[in-house]
Amino acid sequence: MAKLFSQPLVTESIKKNQHVRREAWSFYKIKKWRDNEGNHIQGKKLNRAVKRITNLCAVYLTHNVELGPGGKYGSGVFSLHSRISHSCVPNAYSSWNPTLERLTIHAIHDLKAGDKVFINYTGKVCRTRQQRAFSLSTTWGIVCNCVACTEPAIDQMRRRMLVIDQALAAYACGASRELNFSAIYGIPQISTAKEALEAAEELSQLFKRQRLCSMELCQAFRDCSMYALDAGLSDVALEYAGKEFDLEKLLIGTETPHLKEDLNGAKYWIEYIRNEIGCMPS
Ligand SMILES: [Zn+2]
Repeated sequence: MAKLFSQPLVTESIKKNQHVRREAWSFYKIKKWRDNEGNHIQGKKLNRAVKRITNLCAVYLTHNVELGPGGKYGSGVFSLHSRISHSCVPNAYSSWNPTLERLTIHAIHDLKAGDKVFINYTGKVCRTRQQRAFSLSTTWGIVCNCVACTEPAIDQMRRRMLVIDQALAAYACGASRELNFSAIYGIPQISTAKEALEAAEELSQLFKRQRLCSMELCQAFRDCSMYALDAGLSDVALEYAGKEFDLEKLLIGTETPHLKEDLNGAKYWIEYIRNEIGCMPS
């Protein structure tokens, strides 16, 4: 298997700020590190060792993936995973499973033998082409030519998704109650649970139209469910919670007792709704 490459911009920035080089140098020097023959590493050998560590850091920074949301379980490099290509319209989903202590990859559409597998490196779907292009080129040195990056109609949908996502986030944190909110931020103002439900429904439809399945769609279903509950529509709330549950199983499988820890999984959300509306669990 060919060696993992490092993104030239990353290597360049490591060389420029000298931090990694200094750390590596002190590591060998202060610990009086020895080579296989038992000799202290110094002179040319020390320089070569420092260069090796610097290159390894560049490979790590290019390929490391966060384990869990926000890197809750750390980060790591997985050689097979690093060889899967990127697409902004992926056919597979990868995530860290803390229960299995493995990085798992699930197909999100039916794949035929020989089909190329694609995952979304950036992890974010509600982004414009320019935002994705910036992140892909600076972190991985990639120019993406997928349908979302080449078809203006799809880019329009992604722009709309970003706007709705921001509007929902502002409603959730109360920022949309600010005076002249829409004029200041340029995103639609959501004032009631019913409006929030409509916005989250539109977002989930935009995901569907592009056959996009990701945790962001799970979140959109959760938003639909949550705001339906707030609006007194308990049947609708349960329906969307069921959709979230099905999608969650598709994306991360069923070996997920870790989701219970922070009551994060769709199953626990369904239990919560049933408890709220006084239903007995089926
Ligand atoms: Zn793309």
